[in-house]
Amino acid sequence: MMNCMQLSKQNRRKYILDMTSAQLKTAVKSIIGQDYRINQIIEWVYVKRAISFEYFTNLPKELREQLSERFFLRILKTVKKEKSVIDGTTRYTFQTADKKYFFAVFLPAKDKNSVCISSQIGCPVMCAFCSSGKVKFTRNLSRGEIIEQILQIENDTKEKVSGVLFMGMGEPMLNFNNITSVLDSLLSNKEFGIGKRHITVSSVGIVPLIKRLADGNSGIRLAISIHAVDEKQRKKLIPNNFGFSIKDILNAGKYYLKKTNSRLTIEYVLIKGINNSAADAHKLARLLKQHNLLNPDVQVNLIPFNPITDAQFQTPHQESIQKFKNILKLNGITVNIRQAKGTDINAACGQLGH
Ligand code: SAH
Repeated sequence: MMNCMQLSKQNRRKYILDMTSAQLKTAVKSIIGQDYRINQIIEWVYVKRAISFEYFTNLPKELREQLSERFFLRILKTVKKEKSVIDGTTRYTFQTADKKYFFAVFLPAKDKNSVCISSQIGCPVMCAFCSSGKVKFTRNLSRGEIIEQILQIENDTKEKVSGVLFMGMGEPMLNFNNITSVLDSLLSNKEFGIGKRHITVSSVGIVPLIKRLADGNSGIRLAISIHAVDEKQRKKLIPNNFGFSIKDILNAGKYYLKKTNSRLTIEYVLIKGINNSAADAHKLARLLKQHNLLNPDVQVNLIPFNPITDAQFQTPHQESIQKFKNILKLNGITVNIRQAKGTDINAACGQLGH
């Protein structure tokens, strides 16, 4: 039985991953003694990915005990794990302390392992073709909850993650402060040490926040979800566009490129009979030209629609996907067709909703 003192101490424990390294340094200043201890702590948390303070073996026992009285290292429960028999993609379902569910995906590859992580529970944008949009938005994920997805996947797979995609549940720009705090940790050599070119934030196009991200100039890659060539078409797919036009969003993309010298991806989900005609492909090429986005740092990612429950949309035939691609290519645009991963376990783009 715990006495009252112990219980209240327990309740006051803080989630260590919610703190930046600078905040953690302040929080432990009075107990660590020598300054170099903070680097050891950070190494255990982010590099060695320890799940309990007992493992911090180069710290004095007393300090380890004090740390575990004040902090905890994990908050998420993995409640389900499904692995694709097709390509090894693994989908994790996490439960938060307040009993909410969200998803992350491990994408193994020969040259690099990536993760696709969530930024919110549910999604306020509610794109008509996306299953995350069918889940009622409840709240932003905290800095720690975003980071812990990566740590838990690394712990579980015993693999190092070297690429991070903010393409899971939610609109990352609407959780801006936490996302930028996470980006700092991903880029820091003392924490994750992931190269800026291996981190991509995907946004539906929240223009002022794309500009703020550009001004922060972290150099990470940006993807913007355009999906349509005129406003009427886009409104059908993305009813809640926050008032930003295709023109505004493409200009924000251009601003991002200019400020960061990074790369820009234009995402375009291809849906049969909605936005996949030859005329649409020509219009998309024209739009990119008009916005000065015909350059080698800009690439179009065509994402053939991945089926979701309750959607009346269909995936176009292979032939029409190729035709769309070729029209863009003939117009001098770098274009890729995104290969769906983990379709047998509902882990592909847009399938992280149930
Ligand atoms: N909120 C972010 C991240 C979304 S997921 C954004 O809007 O960009 C990454 C990409 O998958 C987005 O371009 C998204 O529009 C797309 N997507 C969503 N549902 C899809 C589906 N059912 N099939 C294919 N792509 C989908």
